Amino acid sequence: MKKIRSLSKLTRTYISALGLIALLTLATFITMHLVILTQKDSALLVNLSGSQRWLSQKAALLSVELVYITDSAERDQSRKQLLSIINQLQRNHKALIEDTPNIISSQSLTPQMQKVFFSPPINLDTRFNRYTSEALALANEPEHLLTPDNPHFTYLLQNSENLLESLDQIVSMFQKESEAKVQRLGMVEITSGAAILLTLAFLGLYIFRPLADTLLNERSQLEKANQELSLLSSIDGLTGIANRRHFDQFLEQLWLHSARNSEPIAIILCDIDFFKAYNDTYGHLQGDECLRQVASSLKNSLKRPSDFVARYGGEEFVVVLPNTDIEGALTVAETLRVNLESLEIPHRLSSITPKVTISLGVAIGHADHTYQPKTLVEAADSALYQAKQEGRNRYKLANFEG
Ligand code: GH3
Ligand code: MG
Ligand code: MG
Repeated sequence: MKKIRSLSKLTRTYISALGLIALLTLATFITMHLVILTQKDSALLVNLSGSQRWLSQKAALLSVELVYITDSAERDQSRKQLLSIINQLQRNHKALIEDTPNIISSQSLTPQMQKVFFSPPINLDTRFNRYTSEALALANEPEHLLTPDNPHFTYLLQNSENLLESLDQIVSMFQKESEAKVQRLGMVEITSGAAILLTLAFLGLYIFRPLADTLLNERSQLEKANQELSLLSSIDGLTGIANRRHFDQFLEQLWLHSARNSEPIAIILCDIDFFKAYNDTYGHLQGDECLRQVASSLKNSLKRPSDFVARYGGEEFVVVLPNTDIEGALTVAETLRVNLESLEIPHRLSSITPKVTISLGVAIGHADHTYQPKTLVEAADSALYQAKQEGRNRYKLANFEG
């Protein structure tokens, strides 16, 4: 219960950390987006101001043409051009102070720029409006008044330079402003990047590591519990035949029964040959499958209902034949061996034949109270060892009398 609680606490911290990363990523994304918008707006404003500069120069030039040209058709042409330039100048100015798209609008003009636009001494807005209205007045002046001493013309000549300077000031202010903004956003970006890295490091150290530890712990406890459970039960979890515990109980009962009736008991220990090599060649899962095939082959080879087969451990199996003499036991042992061999389960690393085989140790004894059942099993084990020594894929009878 405590474990589960600590796991869910870890999960909660894990989710919060992930949420934090998501937030930081979002913040970085927004910052990037703002940087791009700022750059766009700044480029637009610099362009607009630059174009104002160029247009006001052009207006000054056209006003000179208007005054000095004598040909009336050409003058009309200049007049028209001047009117169109004034129109453009006014539209741009409006865009600069009122309708600038995106984030920089008249409300977001910095106090410094507000001052340039709307307060003395620069007062660009008033100066600009005056300049354009003078230019407009000149453009609409009747022909006889278009002389070099025309007051509108004089005004334009005297103020053109000042206006250009103010426009230059605006451009450089816009640029500085946008650079400062990009720098601030850059700081935000670096900070959130560092925060993401720190959060990831925190996640790795304090969340993932304990999480993995807890999970591994839980797993090994579960495996242990499973083992205990399968020990408690009588069936081997992998092969489905009786397990070692069941075998011990069975033999104990049979021992008492056989002692009472003076009946012999045969024990056959079977061990798969070169099974380690089998696992190494075909993998552990295929090894498990092989164990299942061997178990069912052994089980199906037993004919009498009283015969018993169990998984003794690992790749070893034990067969118990109640009330069976030497001849019968050896026949069964050979049948077990042949039946398995005839399955032809491939085993290319076996040094005797390229298929799965078993070696068997047979021991027969008469149960009585002078010795323990395990002595008979030990005798079968020695015989099995001998069968291995003599080349495997064979059975061997124990040199045992009991
Ligand atoms: P020998 O012919 O002398 O019996 O050689 P061997 O390789 O069969 O014997 P060894 O005792 O060296 O190896 C037994 C192998 O059986 C090693 C072990 O990995 C494997 N084994 C034991 N239990 C299991 C199991 O449940 N599943 C699988 N796949 N392999 C198992
Ligand atoms: Mg073995
Ligand atoms: Mg073996």
